[in-house]
Amino acid sequence: MGMLSKVHAREKMIQQQIIARGLHDQSVLTALRTVERHRFVPTELRGEAYDDNPLPIGYGQTISQPYIVALMTSLLEIDAHSRVLEIGTGSGYQTAVLAEIAAEVYTIEIIPELASRAEALFAELGYTNIHVRCGDGHVGWPEHAPFDAIMVTAAPHEIPPALTEQMAVGGRLVIPVGNFYQDLLVLTREEKGIEKRNVTAVRFVPMTGGK
Ligand code: SAH
Repeated sequence: MGMLSKVHAREKMIQQQIIARGLHDQSVLTALRTVERHRFVPTELRGEAYDDNPLPIGYGQTISQPYIVALMTSLLEIDAHSRVLEIGTGSGYQTAVLAEIAAEVYTIEIIPELASRAEALFAELGYTNIHVRCGDGHVGWPEHAPFDAIMVTAAPHEIPPALTEQMAVGGRLVIPVGNFYQDLLVLTREEKGIEKRNVTAVRFVPMTGGK
């Protein structure tokens, strides 16, 4: 696929998978137009990079479906001032989408090979606002807390307490919780406590690690 056809495939993805499903968040659409999703999938799957489904990225993990990336990014309600924590770097695609919108993105990946592969790709693509750590996301990243927004892209059985503790007041946490099928939850920290709502059913790989 040539460069123009990739631009075309990306625009078609945005029109048919994102806008057609009712998502019109301009900052998210702009980020999806900018980030070259085919750079984040294995070479042999580049022709499928803009398809309406997740794809394998090695080590038993997957790059999320474009619509889920768009939906979860939109739910975070971030802007150019936001400091964001992401758990589950994986391919790095979601991270790059976040980095197009936010000020700083801190991302944690438990599989060393995926963490170093993503870090190398971010450097190659010129991102200076992405910070990668290899480790267990259950503990969050206390040195850089609190965060305006936290996104988790692997599913725990329960919300890790460290993550709610690291939310700024007014901040949001978007996280799939459950076993085979999960509820996509949005938590908002108010002055007085935490509000929680259930958005939709999703399917993510399990969050590993923990105690
Ligand atoms: N947003 C990524 C999704 C990758 S799949 C993408 O679109 O490419 C989820 C990722 O979470 C996997 O790479 C998996 O290794 C990672 N993961 C699972 N448990 C984790 C944990 N406890 N801490 C950090 N990363 C974890």
